[in-house]
Amino acid sequence: MSETRQGRVVKVAGPVVIADGMTGARMYDVVRVGKLNLIGEIVELNGDLASIQVYEETVGIGPGEPVVDTEEPLSVELGPGLIESIYDGIQRPLDSLVEAEGEFMSRGSAMPGLNREKRWLFKPTIENGAEVSVGDIVGEVKEGPLLVHKIMVPFGVSGKVENLKEGEYTVVETIGVVKAADGNETKLKLMQKWPVRNSRAVINRLAPNQLLLTGQRVIDTFFPIAKGGTACVPGPFGTGKTVVQHQLAKWVDADVVVYVGCGERGNEMTGVLTEFPELRDPRSGEPLMKRSVLIANTSNMPVAAREASVYTGITIAEYFRDMGYVVALMADSTSRWAEAMREISTRLEEMPAEEGYPAYLGARIAAFYERAGRVDCCGKPKREGALSIIGAVSPPGGDLSDSVVQATLHVVKVFWSLMAKLAQQRHFPAIDWLTSYSFYKQYLPNCFKDKAQAEKMTALTVEAMGLLEQESQLLEIVRLVGAEALSPADRVALETSRTIREDYLHQNAFHKVDTYTSMEKQFEMLETIMYFHRQSLAAIDKGVSTNDIFKLTVREEIARAKYIPQEEIEKIVKIRETIDEQITKCKS
Ligand code: ADP
Repeated sequence: MSETRQGRVVKVAGPVVIADGMTGARMYDVVRVGKLNLIGEIVELNGDLASIQVYEETVGIGPGEPVVDTEEPLSVELGPGLIESIYDGIQRPLDSLVEAEGEFMSRGSAMPGLNREKRWLFKPTIENGAEVSVGDIVGEVKEGPLLVHKIMVPFGVSGKVENLKEGEYTVVETIGVVKAADGNETKLKLMQKWPVRNSRAVINRLAPNQLLLTGQRVIDTFFPIAKGGTACVPGPFGTGKTVVQHQLAKWVDADVVVYVGCGERGNEMTGVLTEFPELRDPRSGEPLMKRSVLIANTSNMPVAAREASVYTGITIAEYFRDMGYVVALMADSTSRWAEAMREISTRLEEMPAEEGYPAYLGARIAAFYERAGRVDCCGKPKREGALSIIGAVSPPGGDLSDSVVQATLHVVKVFWSLMAKLAQQRHFPAIDWLTSYSFYKQYLPNCFKDKAQAEKMTALTVEAMGLLEQESQLLEIVRLVGAEALSPADRVALETSRTIREDYLHQNAFHKVDTYTSMEKQFEMLETIMYFHRQSLAAIDKGVSTNDIFKLTVREEIARAKYIPQEEIEKIVKIRETIDEQITKCKS
């Protein structure tokens, strides 16, 4: 090992420190800055000068203070203990730091990401003597009630396993060794490290052809996200963004949820920190934290930590995907992350592009979302994993032409357009059906075992969306020339689209049944609404008046279908019989 490289501070500009005497240092090496040992990362090299973004407040650091190169890139610790953790942007555990140092942690604290004392029961899943290589699962640790943590062979290691033993270990104790062909031995531990700026290797990328179901009708039926897919949700204040996020965290059919909160205002994040741990997994009854990892940036943390937090989060998420799990990462908000990038870029005196953001903004955003995907994981046994990213954006004034929104929309495949107008009308979730989109819609049929039902569902969504689009045109006609101008068929179309909006798209997150709708129930509900529509059109063809149809009591039953519990789904099917009876009566 080379002698420790040491330079001196020459200049401090907010979160950026310039040091000289850094010849030989590498880009993205982590350095310790000043007498306080602040943690920083080299982001620019120029001769013997290094520009360093510092993850802590630089007040009080002055020229001449030492800068020590650790010669390691910014990395996270991966192993048992991640689940239920709350970290800051560079994986310092917030809860233990607060315990150890009080509310305001002192600068230069170097708490490791994973607890060093806790013992985990490790059970090998392979025999000693087996040949292993990168990504092979050698054993398991049960991490809480919801997750089995697979222990994998780290990158760069292969050979024959020896001395692998069941037992209780801390994350840094040796659980076995891997002996390479040349006799070199590597100790296996429960923990491994990974540099956050590099994505973890995978064997193959697969088509994201399975939907990540959320139980939210407007999302699953009309704008679904895939396992391994990417979505963007803008979050104007008061549009129900928090409720949408909580609903996703609760109901999404993922094994692990990673939540990255880059709040600017302190209260944005404290909300998450206090509310999230209170949420329960409705399926198991366990606290949601038992399958979650939180990365939080509160307002008193400097911008550079915010910049890093997104990478820390995605690396942890990739690690769980490598185990063969379905992972969902939520980043809120990526606009704050972009603003951090902008501030650092300004301090580095880089040439600004649009709205002062650096020219590489789009490339950084794209590189982040590209880390999502459904993949064949490295190693044996053969397994698939998926990582979906849901990024919130909060453009100033809700302006969608904002650079961050535009750069994001270039790469993501789903857009849930939250509208203040809908929220004001108390239409929740306030996802606008006319401007939202999803490129994963084609995979909706894969949610159904029955092929005929799958085809029917696709046809239903096209039919229903067609009506919603027609509604906006018809309403325009009504506004200009009055309702009298509408044909009976148009009037039926207007009524049905109202039913779709109020009885299908509208979903109450706080109602015990309505909060979650299975795909099967979504099908039966939509089929019933559209069945009534078709039967109504047939009836007016036979001369029945629209008024008689609109008076039918079965419409009440259709409206209440969403409150019918999953176990009684047959009752929704039965509504269609009532429709037949009542419409036949109208005709006679
Ligand atoms: P934001 O985070 O965008 O400021 P919130 O998520 O806090 O907004 O939502 C504001 C209010 O809207 C909530 O307190 C709740 O009353 C209502 N709301 C939002 N979404 C729903 C929903 N799906 N069902 C019922 N009420 C909702």
